Amino acid sequence: MAVGDVRKTIKEISPIDVYKLLPRTNCRECGEPNCMAFATRVVNGELTIENCPPLKKEEYKTAYDDLSALMAPPVKVVTIGTGNRSIRIGGKYVLYRHDFTYHNPTPIALDVSDDMPAKDLADRIQAIGDFTYNYIGRSLVLDAIAIRSTRRDPTTFAATVKAVASRTDLPLILCAYDPVVVEAGITKVNDKRPLIYAATKDNWKDMAELAIRYNCPLTVSAPNDIPLLRSLVQTITEYGVTDLVLDPGTFVDPGLSETIHNFTTIRWSVFRNHDELLGYPLLGTPFTAWLSGEITKNVISWKEACAASMLISRYADLLIMHSMDGWVLLPQLIWKFNIYTDPRKPVSVDPGVREFGTPDRNSPVLITTNYALTYFTVESDIKSGNITCYLVVIDTGGISVESAVAGRYLTAESITNALKEYHVGELVSHRHVILPGLAARLSGETEEASGWHVIVGPKDSSNIVQLLKDHWPPPDT
Ligand code: SF4
Repeated sequence: MAVGDVRKTIKEISPIDVYKLLPRTNCRECGEPNCMAFATRVVNGELTIENCPPLKKEEYKTAYDDLSALMAPPVKVVTIGTGNRSIRIGGKYVLYRHDFTYHNPTPIALDVSDDMPAKDLADRIQAIGDFTYNYIGRSLVLDAIAIRSTRRDPTTFAATVKAVASRTDLPLILCAYDPVVVEAGITKVNDKRPLIYAATKDNWKDMAELAIRYNCPLTVSAPNDIPLLRSLVQTITEYGVTDLVLDPGTFVDPGLSETIHNFTTIRWSVFRNHDELLGYPLLGTPFTAWLSGEITKNVISWKEACAASMLISRYADLLIMHSMDGWVLLPQLIWKFNIYTDPRKPVSVDPGVREFGTPDRNSPVLITTNYALTYFTVESDIKSGNITCYLVVIDTGGISVESAVAGRYLTAESITNALKEYHVGELVSHRHVILPGLAARLSGETEEASGWHVIVGPKDSSNIVQLLKDHWPPPDT
């Protein structure tokens, strides 16, 4: 599509627009009842055109190309790396998450440099690969490694890239401004599609040549100068490079407000002014906090963490960081997880009965909902309290207890049905069930509908231990 063309936003594309380009045979190979149902799910972002097998046949090539253009996000998708650990960045359809959803959560790369002693380098790569945090049932991990050339020597850089690549399958970012240094590194990993950092006004032609020769994505850097960035993108795309990442500069202190302003201006230009030259993923580099010669390590880490959080919010598609401290990284991982969940679909867990400890026929039966945050909070409190029990997880569509009661997703009827469906009466010999405190108002109806006696539990699941001390076993068991 030519520069300056105004393409439809995702909200303006109707299922009919998609349907008209589909084979319209209603063959059901996609698993949908007909092509119109498929088109609706594509527009909702639940399926892609790749899910329609007939579209890949030669006879539909024009329709496939037209659909690809129609559904292309305003911010291009760029892939870094190969295989299972490759990362996709960009691919944004909207400026605001609540307008649709954000795709491709911001990967976080940690830096290493070619002046590190071999043991330190090996230990850091190991630590990056091992870093994991379980958050409401999901493993949050680090995504990539950025190798910085500080010696500015091709041989040293090549040796470091080779050493890193031999120890990790994470995607790599090769950071140097000298094309000779970058090429020395690429030759060690030319089958791994590393991201090149970076083309500038001084070296763009040599860097563009490398990107084309080795089929690698290329970062374009113009710190604090959006007109120059835009001009470089135009020049480099006309030269033939298609997969670009934009670096408008990250200034942690001073300059953080200008940095966020630049990121926001670029994204606004894409979505409000349909500026396709800026429609590429944005790179934030909070690790630059460490280049400022600040007072103490903790202050630098704090500044890096603040910059990273703001950049995830506005609108970084990839970050390079330095600190490995949990208090720096965990907020970023959790923040991006929350921003990138689909606002139309609450994060949920499977309904059913969970067993904790080795429950028997006298063990308590607790009720909760399948909202992931609720479930994992309750699970954590049960485990930390060493409680032996059955936990009945009710399908409330991923809604929390209080909202589910208000919206009638959690009712006496749904509790009764769950007790029957999961055969809870066969697991225990008593008929006592513990409702969450926030569902207390359902107790009378639940007793009537189910025939089970209700014990109203605490509003905060951390108090379950005390409740059981006070009320379990009930007098008649
Ligand atoms: S596979 Fe394609 S042609 Fe067949 S029903 Fe689905 S959308 Fe229509």
